[in-house]
Amino acid sequence: MAVPKRRTSRSKKGMRRSHHHAHARQVQYCNRCGTVALPHTVCSNCGWSNTQRREAVELKEATEE
Ligand SMILES: [Zn+2]
Repeated sequence: MAVPKRRTSRSKKGMRRSHHHAHARQVQYCNRCGTVALPHTVCSNCGWSNTQRREAVELKEATEE
């Protein structure tokens, strides 16, 4: 098995890990109601699918029972 000849310096380790930070989740906006929705998902507010350009899920109105 190949073994590193030199130990990685703190500097080089830091340079490599400089890209390891977390990014904010990318969001899109629903074409029908305008609220934030994750890409390739159905809008949780109105059931609209941006990718299919149609209502994918019929949401039930909040019923009082
Ligand atoms: Zn919507």
